[in-house]
Amino acid sequence: MNVTHHISDAVMAAYATGSLSQAFSLVVATHVSMCDDCRAALEAHEAAGGVVLDGIGETALTGNLRARVMAALDDPAERFDMEAPAIDAFDVYPAPVAQALRGQGPKWKRLGGGVRQCILSADNEGSARLLYIPAGRPVPEHTHGGLELTLVLQGGFSDATGHFGVGDVEQADGDLEHIPTADEGVDCICLAATDAPLRFHGLVPRILQPFFAI
Ligand SMILES: [Zn+2]
Repeated sequence: MNVTHHISDAVMAAYATGSLSQAFSLVVATHVSMCDDCRAALEAHEAAGGVVLDGIGETALTGNLRARVMAALDDPAERFDMEAPAIDAFDVYPAPVAQALRGQGPKWKRLGGGVRQCILSADNEGSARLLYIPAGRPVPEHTHGGLELTLVLQGGFSDATGHFGVGDVEQADGDLEHIPTADEGVDCICLAATDAPLRFHGLVPRILQPFFAI
């Protein structure tokens, strides 16, 4: 895999310290599962965090904390497992995405123009979704209230900032107005996360917006 667009250092640092939203964390975990460079960058951030922890003086904890933690280790936890097996029939989806799909294929909803989406998570911190863009088609023009991370899982797309292939991440900030267009030949599937609603300019997507929570 020839990844050329990576997770920014600021976003990776936030991920390593656990301060990213669930939606952005899913994109970072998925990219890291596809990209050796970013896996190494993450390990470097985590090592730096470990050094900080080692330098902090010890604080006494209540007596039974250790027993409570050991008991809780047996509870199934909701977290992204990069080693979990991908869904056999859907090998487009790396393990963190397969986990977010809970082992099912995506349930696509139409957005018009052949574009479809499947919402993976949405809360007041943002949302994560899969986008399906037919080969050669544009995604409706939109701007962002906040940050948007888009990771290509199949095919590729281009916009004014460049070309993005499988494994590449586009980081779009607040004011970027762009029209990503899928490559010819293969339908494009992306994982996209935002921390604010996308604002579409076309009339129909704006009408659909309340129904699809986008
Ligand atoms: Zn990377």
